[in-house]
Amino acid sequence: MTGHIHPDDLRRIEQETDLAAVIAEHTPLAAGPNEQLRGQCPFHDDQAANLAVRARIGRWHCFGCGEGGDVITFVMRAEGTSFAASAERLAEAADIRLRYVD
Ligand SMILES: [Zn+2]
Repeated sequence: MTGHIHPDDLRRIEQETDLAAVIAEHTPLAAGPNEQLRGQCPFHDDQAANLAVRARIGRWHCFGCGEGGDVITFVMRAEGTSFAASAERLAEAADIRLRYVD
């Protein structure tokens, strides 16, 4: 496959993927303040629940190591996969057929 994934398809991935469920595959999450879910960050040796997940807006952030981003960023970091491979993995799980643009 060549080119870039169509931006509309990337938006669909974000909209149709349950960010909290993806993150919970790597670290347990519990309800925290301000409608956040909190958990221990899988990207540094976390002794507290520094990982904040804002499922409503599809963003996560770690107050310990400063990592953060969207669901694709999380999969890239957690699974060590490229942007495209991470997006494809999520698209397949959400039954989204990706289109590629040059
Ligand atoms: Zn961290």
